[in-house]
Amino acid sequence: MPDEADFKCLRCGAEFKLHYVKGVIEERTCPRCGSNSVRLLKKKETAGEPGK
Ligand SMILES: [Zn+2]
Repeated sequence: MPDEADFKCLRCGAEFKLHYVKGVIEERTCPRCGSNSVRLLKKKETAGEPGK
């Protein structure tokens, strides 16, 4: 089931939420500038990740 996660564009600095499917890495594009330099900030379902 898709979840929402916070993403940030490394190009223009915009932060936005996108659907995120656990284990699936998709190419993201920034809704503001269209750049694909988008980074996942955090996953909503994971609270306090143990140090890997
Ligand atoms: Zn952007």
